Amino acid sequence: MNGPTPRLEILADRIHDNARAIVAQCSDHGIQVAAVTKVLHAHPALLRALDDTGIAMLADSRLQNLRRIAETGSSLPTLLLRAPGRHDIDATVQLADISLNSSLITMTALSEAAVRAGTRHGVIIMVDVGDLREGVWPDHLVDVVSAAATLPGIDVRGIGTNLACYGGVQPSVENMTRLVHLRNLARDATGLELGLISGGNSANLPLMMSGDMPSEINHLRVGEAIILGRNTLDRSAWPGTRQDTVEVVSEIIELERKPSIPLGRTGEDAFGQHVTFTDRGVRLRAICNLGRQDVNPSDLTPIDPGHIVLGASSDHLIVDVTDSVSPVEIGTEVRFRPTYAGLLSTATSSAVWKGAATPQAL
Ligand SMILES: *Cc1c(COP(=O)(O)O)cnc(C)c1O
Repeated sequence: MNGPTPRLEILADRIHDNARAIVAQCSDHGIQVAAVTKVLHAHPALLRALDDTGIAMLADSRLQNLRRIAETGSSLPTLLLRAPGRHDIDATVQLADISLNSSLITMTALSEAAVRAGTRHGVIIMVDVGDLREGVWPDHLVDVVSAAATLPGIDVRGIGTNLACYGGVQPSVENMTRLVHLRNLARDATGLELGLISGGNSANLPLMMSGDMPSEINHLRVGEAIILGRNTLDRSAWPGTRQDTVEVVSEIIELERKPSIPLGRTGEDAFGQHVTFTDRGVRLRAICNLGRQDVNPSDLTPIDPGHIVLGASSDHLIVDVTDSVSPVEIGTEVRFRPTYAGLLSTATSSAVWKGAATPQAL
């Protein structure tokens, strides 16, 4: 694909294949997949890639992205992954079929909004089994579910948890069994079916594949494993998926031979850091039109094995191209694979052009 730089190329066919592979793996374990779109800002190319993959829902943490999903048009149910703020209640009812919640105050507001809109809104009540991010503390889950069950316009669809995000706690037989036990307690107390047990995110896939996931866990919310093909516990390649699904492309705007060590007495750089330099002698250095405004340079891996990312200021990315495998000149496009954090920041930077692409030779 040719296009303006800097840009983010989305290799939609590869993401499509990743989604199919993960849906098949989950389906073998009785688990439905909500595909999480936030890291690509719910880009239409991603949404198209997720068509015909067997995913059960589209999920995102931001209403802005759910609005984009609605505009792109999809028949799949939508799931809001983050509890809405008080100004987002009506939009939540309008844009999400289900939301993850832990506060009775918020669920009461959602109930009022659903009644006003003449509709119903589903909630999955989150419980914290140890990661210390969102979720009701287990000792009062039953009370919260019981109270939510009485709210008009609200369907309590089940319970869920999130792990491996804030505290880095790994999904385990113990914490998943506890989740099932908590659902059973809440079911007995309310008589509600609470049919969905949403066990977590990409980090739950290794436990699932090991065969040790309790069979009652029937829903996962999967982003990174689909979009970047990674096991999020250690960032290794996830079986059956590919990792070359997105590329960050910049272009060379200066090419000069310069020493590797700055001349003169050094102080802080533009970001208040004291930078240390490795003396590699005189090197061919490319300045690319990408910067910290778009992405942290440590979140980029050059696709050309001869390129070394040296650093970046707001708008200038400096790459050592002395050993470049492909020829370089002013205007040459330089490509990188981003980490999850790098993808998130380029996908949400308004200065980065984004689009679907087909694979290119190096
Ligand atoms: C982002 C998010 C996910 C998806 O996480 P991945 O690691 O990308 O699979 C799942 N659940 C919640 C609540 C999230 O915020």
